[in-house]
Amino acid sequence: MTGPSDSNGPFDKLVGDARAEFDRADSKPLREAWLGLDLPAIRIDLVKRLLDAGIEEAEIETRHLLTHILAPASLAEALADPALVSWQRVAHLADLAWERLKRKPLSQVLGSQPFWTLDLIVTGDVLTPRADTETLVDTVLNARKDGALDVLDLGTGSGAILLALLSERPDWRGVGVDLSSAALAVARRNAEACQLAGRARFLEGRWADGLADQSFDIIVSNPPYIVSDVMTGLDPEVRDFEPALALDGGADGLEAYRAILADLPRILRPGGLFACEIGYDQGASVCDLAAGAGLAGVRVVADLAGQDRVVIGYNS
Ligand code: GLN
Repeated sequence: MTGPSDSNGPFDKLVGDARAEFDRADSKPLREAWLGLDLPAIRIDLVKRLLDAGIEEAEIETRHLLTHILAPASLAEALADPALVSWQRVAHLADLAWERLKRKPLSQVLGSQPFWTLDLIVTGDVLTPRADTETLVDTVLNARKDGALDVLDLGTGSGAILLALLSERPDWRGVGVDLSSAALAVARRNAEACQLAGRARFLEGRWADGLADQSFDIIVSNPPYIVSDVMTGLDPEVRDFEPALALDGGADGLEAYRAILADLPRILRPGGLFACEIGYDQGASVCDLAAGAGLAGVRVVADLAGQDRVVIGYNS
């Protein structure tokens, strides 16, 4: 592609093929608005547009988007040297920002999300791994330090929890189960990218239904736990772009816990550890369900914000 402003913006003189290429996108209005602006001006405009769209973390998100499209150059380098800000990069930024302004989660726009020490592939087929869920990883790692253990992650989604655990414990192996084959495809890609595929298997199935003859030392889960009636009130990022299968916990938000706990005595080895994520107000209910399923030493663990976030128990 050639044009007089290929690599030394501003971009108001695009002609011929370059102009046609620039115009050929859903994000054309945004591309057009930024034609002729330098990077600091584009940055200010993007922050304003994100705020207007109801996105609170507009400045940090703008920084993430800029960092993404400028790579391998850094934002500081690009601010110091306008030649690094090609019109192709501005067009790319407009494409990503266009999606984000429709409230697609930033993780899905960028295609990845940091979790624990990993950088995980994220699509609309999986729940975006959340910082809260690191409490579950931390709880399991604190409870189990030694041994070559078998881990099961029920409703594995992106594979986040299983892969974070395996990344910290070279002797552990694991199985991730999900009802969604599309989610499992993402989990497998993540296992490969994290170089953990040799110790992680992924199986399609409903909770432990397909695991009749297997048992595990550790069973973890971040199941759907949002009360169905609350789903419509969620942020647009979650409600409109994340899979309801990973979020909707049924009429009282507890259906998945009941289904999972019913199978635990069969698949959790004696002395084995069960740990699951919960909603901030579900500690008492999930503890009752876990104790009712025969688990011992059941207790709640709070997250870094002090909210109840994890329930653990042991097969006695
Ligand atoms: N914590 C998630 C949310 O509020 C819910 C995750 C889940 O249902 N497992 O979006």
